[in-house]
Amino acid sequence: MNPIHKLDEHTINQIAAGEVVERPASVVKELIENSIDARASAITVEIKDGGISLIRITDNGVGIPKDQVTTAFLRHTTSKIYKVEDLNHIDSLGFRGEALASIAAVSQLEMITKVVGDVTGKRVEIHGGQLKAEQEIGCPEGTTLIVKNLFYNVPARKKFLKKPSTEGSYISDIVYKTALGHPEVSFKYINNNSIVFHTSGNNDLRNAVFNVYGKEVIKKMISIEEENNNLKITGLIGKPEVNRANRSYENFYINGRYIKSKILESAVEEAYKTLLPINKFPVVVLHIYIDPNKIDVNVHPTKMEVRFRDEEEIYYFVVESIRKNLKQEDLIPKVTWET
Ligand code: ADP
Ligand code: MG
Repeated sequence: MNPIHKLDEHTINQIAAGEVVERPASVVKELIENSIDARASAITVEIKDGGISLIRITDNGVGIPKDQVTTAFLRHTTSKIYKVEDLNHIDSLGFRGEALASIAAVSQLEMITKVVGDVTGKRVEIHGGQLKAEQEIGCPEGTTLIVKNLFYNVPARKKFLKKPSTEGSYISDIVYKTALGHPEVSFKYINNNSIVFHTSGNNDLRNAVFNVYGKEVIKKMISIEEENNNLKITGLIGKPEVNRANRSYENFYINGRYIKSKILESAVEEAYKTLLPINKFPVVVLHIYIDPNKIDVNVHPTKMEVRFRDEEEIYYFVVESIRKNLKQEDLIPKVTWET
């Protein structure tokens, strides 16, 4: 064996980047989350070649002060938490302070940002983690991130990317899901120069679902709103006839964060159990609100999983909320006895 030694900074950054940035869709996810945390009311997502050659995210959020821009690209730098106790009540989508550093380590990127009220903003260019250029410039308020040639310096990762259309569909999925999670934000999504969808940002979930999934789906969605002492659920659930062949139309948000959750999937499927053919899945957009103290979002680097302190409580709450609303619509057949 070789002697034990500490890895150099560059190698450490590359390894860390691999955890956060698995593929172009992970870049899009992290950057949109940053825009939402920056309280943007409009976000434009533009990609080319499945995000491999270009990802451009433009927001009208609060921007980054000029003297903090390069700091934002260092590892473990964040404006969102201060100490370990803060992890118990995360109210932002980001908190790890890793995304910008990770993305910068494996791409050629450019950021242009201006704080509301400032006369000038700042532009930086970073290639493979190295600062290439910085300048003060005139620009609109908010932030634009342009990420080019993802994994240009990590051939092993690049080789494992799927074809652009497949990578593009992963990105579309993230943009759809985030847009449905934030009807208060106007999303515009442009793929290879054509507009895929544009949500109004008028905070009407029905409107967002109409923009993202179309007329045929929204016509068959029922509004739902239930609450108990600990939990609140709002959103839209599909009538059984709008079922799908996979789970990609099951959308779950915990306190505004899009998550994947086996527990919530099985709760929803239990509620629809007798109503759907085998191997068919419902269309749901469910926003669940819970005391941040009762969940742990620091489970995985991608922050797409949440651990619930009381899994049973949330499971039964979701099953019963959906059943109740399907029953009210007379969609669950009542058992009657013929005499
Ligand atoms: P995190 O989101 O976990 O804090 P990031 O590496 O994603 O870490 O971002 C680092 C910091 O840069 C953020 O905490 C935030 O202060 C700032 N930032 C990143 N993106 C934006 C944006 N679009 N608008 C305003 N500030 C941003
Ligand atoms: Mg972030």
